[in-house]
Amino acid sequence: MPEIPEMETYKDYLQLSVLGKKIVGTEIVRERSTNVPPDEFVRWVQDTSIEQVLRCGKYLILSLSSGKALCAHMMLDGRIYYEVAGEPVELPGSSHIQLRFEDDSILHFCDLRLGYLKLLDPSQVQAIKDGLGPDPLDSGFSFTAFLKILSAKRGMIKPLLMDQKNISGIGNAYSNEILFAAGILPERKVPTLTDGEKERLYSVIPDLLRQAIEKGGYIEEPFAFWDNLSGGMIPYFKVYDRSGQPCLQCGDTIRQKIVGGRNAYYCLTCQH
Ligand SMILES: [Zn+2]
Repeated sequence: MPEIPEMETYKDYLQLSVLGKKIVGTEIVRERSTNVPPDEFVRWVQDTSIEQVLRCGKYLILSLSSGKALCAHMMLDGRIYYEVAGEPVELPGSSHIQLRFEDDSILHFCDLRLGYLKLLDPSQVQAIKDGLGPDPLDSGFSFTAFLKILSAKRGMIKPLLMDQKNISGIGNAYSNEILFAAGILPERKVPTLTDGEKERLYSVIPDLLRQAIEKGGYIEEPFAFWDNLSGGMIPYFKVYDRSGQPCLQCGDTIRQKIVGGRNAYYCLTCQH
């Protein structure tokens, strides 16, 4: 599931390619990928411009000049692709919703089976924001705020990092990488973390996410024909999806088990 680095990469690319552009056509191939009937979608989206593109946790918010907003969530396998007129097209999956612009370029929202592109009022967008914990890349994510999130928690650290109500935007891949970088096992109970471990964890979260943004995240499918950055983070993963392979730090075998319902990857020598 795309997390902060992947959604941040999409945000940057959308700002580059469609910000300020007028939507002149829409096509909804899969009606269940949005929340309103096609005629209502067209009424509020067609002939409006994209005025702002924001990321909130794992959501992308495209504000429209009609006063409404399009809210995209990719869930497990949703992808976004930007087709430029006259250039080769390599769709990353089935195109479920399309927005066409004045210059004949098309924004494809692909494989929105669990994911979606919803048409929302500003109050509904605000309700989404209100339900999210702090974004680890925002200035509001202070060490004090982090300690407050950890306080009174009794459970395991990995599910805590992935709970969007605690911290927004971290999912399975980066929670594994963050815990490896901090030297903490995914099953560790929060009350057993030492002060030093909490400090280390706090500092590696934004560092690792920023590194992943710089590398282009882990989505392999390009955003457009000119995109040669996406997926650049994959070779830098130290534990995620590396079960059975040697630890790059110590040579021990990377292990895998279910923690909090999701796959945890870890090194028993480097993490405690
Ligand atoms: Zn190791």
